[in-house]
Amino acid sequence: MFKVSRCLPLVQLTSKLSKNAQGLLPTSQLASRQIATKVQPLTQLNEDELMMKESVAKLASQIIAPFVKKMDIQQSFEPDVVNALFANGLMGLEIDAEYGGAGASFMSAIVTIEELAKIDPAVSVFCDIQNTLINTLFRKLGTQEQKDKYLPKLAQDTVGSFCLSEAESGSDAFSLKTRAIKSDDHYIINGSKMWISSSEIAGVYLVMANANPKDGYKGITCFIVDQITPGVSIGKKEDKLGIRASSTCAVHFDNVQVPASNILGELGQGYKYAIGMLNEGRIGIGAQMVGLAQGCFDATVPYTLQRTQFGKRIFDFQAMQHQIAQVATQIESARLLVYNAARLKEAGLPFVKEAAMAKYYAAEVATLTTSKCIEWMGGVGFTKDYPVEKFYRDCKIGTIYEGTSNIQLNTIAKYIEQEYRS
Ligand SMILES: Cc1cc2nc3c(=O)[nH]c(=O)nc-3n(C[C@H](O)[C@H](O)[C@H](O)COP(=O)(O)OP(=O)(O)OC[C@H]3O[C@@H](n4cnc5c(N)ncnc54)[C@H](O)[C@@H]3O)c2cc1C
Repeated sequence: MFKVSRCLPLVQLTSKLSKNAQGLLPTSQLASRQIATKVQPLTQLNEDELMMKESVAKLASQIIAPFVKKMDIQQSFEPDVVNALFANGLMGLEIDAEYGGAGASFMSAIVTIEELAKIDPAVSVFCDIQNTLINTLFRKLGTQEQKDKYLPKLAQDTVGSFCLSEAESGSDAFSLKTRAIKSDDHYIINGSKMWISSSEIAGVYLVMANANPKDGYKGITCFIVDQITPGVSIGKKEDKLGIRASSTCAVHFDNVQVPASNILGELGQGYKYAIGMLNEGRIGIGAQMVGLAQGCFDATVPYTLQRTQFGKRIFDFQAMQHQIAQVATQIESARLLVYNAARLKEAGLPFVKEAAMAKYYAAEVATLTTSKCIEWMGGVGFTKDYPVEKFYRDCKIGTIYEGTSNIQLNTIAKYIEQEYRS
C-alpha cells in the first residue's frame, strides 16, 4: 500500500552544489541541472506521506483531542485512544503487511509522530517509542521465530517498552548494573530499570542486561522479556511535570528466567543496538518537539488575532508580529532539520550528527515556542482553560530523554572535531 517515492535529503543536494560551487558549472546550468534531477523541496511530502499526515491529523482531532485533558489529569491513556492507534495501524507503521503492519516508511512514521504531538505529545511519544525503538529492533534483529511471534502482536495489540536506564546509569547508560547470568540453556536476569515509558501497560520489554560483566559494556545484551514472566514487576510510577498520560515506571527483574533464544540479535552486542536505535529514535523525538511547538503555536495565534487591547488586535502590534514571525521561522528551521535527518536515514546516508542536531534544536524551539505562546496569551495562557500550559509542561522532556541536550551537543562536537581534524 505504501510505496516510497524518493525524496533527496537536503544535505545530499548541498554536497552536489558544493562541487559545482568550485566553478565547474555556471549558475544558469546549475539551476537547470537541479530541475533536471527533480530534487524535491525538503518539506514536500510524497503521496503516501501526505496521506498518512492527513489521516493521522483527522484521527488526532476526532479521537484523541477530546481526551487530552482527562488523560493528563488521570495520568493514563484512555483505552479508546490506545485501541484507535492500533486499529489504524499507527503502532506498527514500519512493520511489513505480512505481519499485520502498515508497511509504511520511516518518514511516514516521523510525520505521524509530528501530527500526534500537535494534539497530545504524550500520545506521540507512546507511538514513537513503539515504532522507532521496539518495532525497529524486532524488525532488524529478530530471528524468523521472534518476528513471527512478536511483530503481529506489536502491530495489533501489544505495547513494548525499552528498558535501558537505571537509577545510577542515565546518560552513562552502559554502566548499567542489571545482570543476566547464563544457566544451561537460559539466562537469569536480576536488576531494576528506571524511567521506563509505557511500562505500566506493556506486554513485552526489551531489556539491556550485562551477560558478561568482565567484558565491560561489551557484555551488554538485549533480552526479550514478556511481561507475564515470573519475577517481573512494575515499581514506582513517576508523578511527572509533563507527558503525564504516558506512564513512566521502574521495572524490576527478580530472578527472571528467559530462554537463551530470547536474546535479540547477538550476545554482547546490546550496546551497539542501543546506540543505533537511539540515534534513529532521536529523529522521532525531534518530530515530537516540532509537532508540539506547531500545535502550541496553532492554538495561540488565533487568540492574538481576536484579542484587542488599546483599540486594536494584539497581533497588530509590531512587537508581537516580530516575535510571532521569529518563532514561526524557528519552528520551520527545526522541522527542516528533522525532515533532513529522516530523509538521510531513509536514503542510507550518515545521519547521526544531523539527528543529534535535529533533536537538540527541536527541543530548544519547543521550549521557546511554548514559553512565548503563554506570554502572548497573557493571563489566560497561564490557566488550564487553554492547551498552551500543557504544551509548556510537555516540552521539557525533549531536553532529557533519548539523550539529554548536553549529550546531543557532545555528539555534534565529536563529529565537528572529526571533520576538522582530517
Ligand atoms: C519521562 C521519561 C521517560 C523516559 N523513558 C525511558 C525509557 O522508555 N527507557 C529508558 O531506558 N529510559 C527512559 N528515560 C530515561 C532517560 O533516557 C534519562 O533520564 C536520560 O538519559 C538522562 O539520564 P539521567 O536522568 O540519569 O540524567 P543524568 O545522566 O544524571 O544527567 C543529569 C545532567 O547531567 C548532564 N550530563 C551527564 N553526563 C554528561 C556529559 N558527559 N556531558 C555533559 N553533561 C552531562 C546531563 O546533560 C543532565 O543535564 C526516560 C526519562 C524520562 C524523564
